[in-house]
Amino acid sequence: MDILNKIKKAGLVGRSGSCFPVALKWEMVAKASDQKKYVICNASEGEPGVKKDGYILNNFPVKVIDGIKIALNFLKADKGFIYLNPEYYKKYHKKLKKIINTSPIELIAKPANAGYIGGEESSILNSIEAKRIEPRLRPPFPTTNGLWGYPTLINNVETFYDVSLAAASKYKNTRFYTINGDCLLDGVYELPTNYTIEKILKLTKNFPNFPFFVQIGGDASGLILNSRQLKRPVSGAGSITIYSQQKYNPKELIANWLYFFKSESCGQCTPCREGTYRLMEILNSKEINWKNFTDILDNLSDTSFCGLGCAAPLPIKSYITNVLSGMPENKINLGPGAKKIICGCFK
Ligand code: SF4
Repeated sequence: MDILNKIKKAGLVGRSGSCFPVALKWEMVAKASDQKKYVICNASEGEPGVKKDGYILNNFPVKVIDGIKIALNFLKADKGFIYLNPEYYKKYHKKLKKIINTSPIELIAKPANAGYIGGEESSILNSIEAKRIEPRLRPPFPTTNGLWGYPTLINNVETFYDVSLAAASKYKNTRFYTINGDCLLDGVYELPTNYTIEKILKLTKNFPNFPFFVQIGGDASGLILNSRQLKRPVSGAGSITIYSQQKYNPKELIANWLYFFKSESCGQCTPCREGTYRLMEILNSKEINWKNFTDILDNLSDTSFCGLGCAAPLPIKSYITNVLSGMPENKINLGPGAKKIICGCFK
């Protein structure tokens, strides 16, 4: 069986958080008739609370490089790149170089000022081409117009690890979960893809015995769920962060998420550049105008140029809907009438 059929049989999906079918992406690049093709392994892992790619690079680097080599062979690609965040570059470049040996794979360190958006796939293309690091307009997609205009396959570390297992018929429907926050046994765990959040927390002995809520898919852009919503698998980049309900002030939590997006906005489009700034401004004002606040959140998800701006409202809206709406008024502490206005907007 050829590698594409093995990937299809294993049902591999991208593990950057997108869950895009791997075989479909590989086919798109394979079908492009250009003379040059490239492969990029995205090891820029920049979402707070997600550490699984670092764990895989540390523990299974041979499998990751093997997955990249399989892609290079299948696509008859000219060259591969591993694009690492500065921390991972420092920690793993010697080990990776040894394994790469004479293969046509180059290690590239993400510039320190590239920020969170520097890990977005079209920003990576700009970064390698030494252009301003910001997302590109799509279409065209990297599968046909990637590095220097040539078809480029971009998959993340865990995806190449899975490809290596699938090629050897050893893939067992597992994925890596990062568990963080208010728990005793935080870390990275490899468990079946279909386990529910509740099952994962119980199996790893991290299920809290206090009132809590969780954030899945990253501490910045992840979805917030209350403790009655855990009978579902983990979506996105495979992380679960536990928050003690008593420990966090709602306004501070919302401000923390906003601060992250305001700081990491690349500034290319107005809804995200201005929107995240104005949201912080409203939140810090004496009398918070919740109507304007919720209008700007909606605008961000509807009109932002890339996933960062579109994702910024997700933790805030889901926190308000899934956690705040169930809390007694006297515990919310967001100013008079806040619960009625903001919870009403997102129902
Ligand atoms: S949404 Fe934000 S990060 Fe994305 S292009 Fe616009 S300004 Fe840049």
